[in-house]
Amino acid sequence: MANLKTSSANTKCSGGCLCGAVRYEVVGPLRPVVYCHCSQCRRTTGHFLAATAAAKDELVIASDAYLCWFASSESTSRGFCGRCGSNLFWVSEAEDYICIMVGSLDDPGGIQAVEHVFVDDKPDYYQLNDDLPKHPGGDSLGYWFRGSR
Ligand SMILES: [Zn+2]
Ligand SMILES: [Zn+2]
Repeated sequence: MANLKTSSANTKCSGGCLCGAVRYEVVGPLRPVVYCHCSQCRRTTGHFLAATAAAKDELVIASDAYLCWFASSESTSRGFCGRCGSNLFWVSEAEDYICIMVGSLDDPGGIQAVEHVFVDDKPDYYQLNDDLPKHPGGDSLGYWFRGSR
């Protein structure tokens, strides 16, 4: 569903799935990491989601042989590798950014986490003991692209 570029110069960072069938590059800045504790992210990750993000027009899919999209709601989709099952992307028609699972980056070093969202949906089998802001819902999402660019 996402209208993604297929080639570009000026690669800034790269990433991909476990088996290597899906490869991507980001040619712009990455958002800090947000942890999402909603029930959809719990199911698709097996725990909770840790995602950076990039502007949609700055994500380049370099190899998409097994890239699959699951429509998790009317306006949102989740991208994953159909061969190895790695979670890779979350995208909404309403937003100009695309979330990227931070663990799929080739070099995730240097990106800081900034907040937790949907903590009201968090199951009680784990606790949040850090000092990051904890939002009951997802209202804070997207601030980085709308506010600082
Ligand atoms: Zn794969
Ligand atoms: Zn979520």
